[in-house]
Amino acid sequence: MTLDGKAVAAKVLAEVKAGAAAYRERTGAPPTLAVILVGEDPASQLYVRSKKRDAQDVGIGSRDFLFPQGCAQAELHATIQRINADPSMHGVLLQLPLPRGLDEDAAIATIAPAKDADGLHPVSLGNLLAGKPTLVPCTPAGCIEILDHYGIPLEGAEAVVVGRSRLVGKPLAQLLIGRNATVTTCHTRTRDLAAHCRRADILCVAAGRARMVTGDMVRDGVVVIDVGTNRLDTGKLAGDVDFASVSLKARAITPVPGGVGPMTRAMLMRNTLLAAQRQAGLSPS
Ligand code: NAP
Repeated sequence: MTLDGKAVAAKVLAEVKAGAAAYRERTGAPPTLAVILVGEDPASQLYVRSKKRDAQDVGIGSRDFLFPQGCAQAELHATIQRINADPSMHGVLLQLPLPRGLDEDAAIATIAPAKDADGLHPVSLGNLLAGKPTLVPCTPAGCIEILDHYGIPLEGAEAVVVGRSRLVGKPLAQLLIGRNATVTTCHTRTRDLAAHCRRADILCVAAGRARMVTGDMVRDGVVVIDVGTNRLDTGKLAGDVDFASVSLKARAITPVPGGVGPMTRAMLMRNTLLAAQRQAGLSPS
């Protein structure tokens, strides 16, 4: 079975749209996302445009904060602090990566945790580790959402996560532990990656290496979440999983494109709504 990220994302976005309308009715203004873009990287510009379109589609407002390539760290922080103090903006999207010369960690740490729509602030990640409610990083949250949507049991499952980045691998492993899976995290120093992958009931791959997981590395009946988005020389997008060989053995698998990508975008909208609801003292619908 192919796990249809587009369809699940559409369901999440429909829920967010209803929640945003209810929020607007209660407070008189829409949930609003502050969008910070530094420099002119075409890929970042494209991502920002699509996130703003998503926001518009679900009734979430967005406000732009554009900085030139060579802007000063202090200037960026001053704007983030202004957004933090402004009750009409509820979430902050700081488009990453920042141009060279800027300190990403310092900029992320300047965002008020309550407005941390990407879930990457140390307080958000600490809450995740502590098992407390928090804004969860969008890609790992999207992976769990898609598994839940298809009713894939996590409790007691052998889950293997390939990749240990702050953005995806580590928070995803943490979410799986929180759901009582038994989790193994693999990385570039892992001995015999294939042996670990073959043990997995649920295999999540976020390594950034096109088609590195092949059919001989998985067992029959595995559920595969492919986070990878790799641009091939042909211009085509490929996941970290070789769909052709792995899908012959998998019980369920996400495609690339059309799997985790749309989920990530939908979860940003959900986080923005959640942040706005919490700031207004409203319980999420
Ligand atoms: P990253 O920061 O580069 O981290 C990659 C991780 O994979 C690292 O922990 C690395 O290990 C591990 N790794 C790399 N090659 C490996 C190998 N051959 N064997 C085992 N482990 C290996 O990347 P990321 O930000 O987590 O992103 C991962 C992928 O997901 C990328 O393709 C990215 O484009 C994609 N992505 C997609 C979405 C989406 O919405 N679909 C969102 C975010 C990211 P070390 O720690 O040892 O270096």
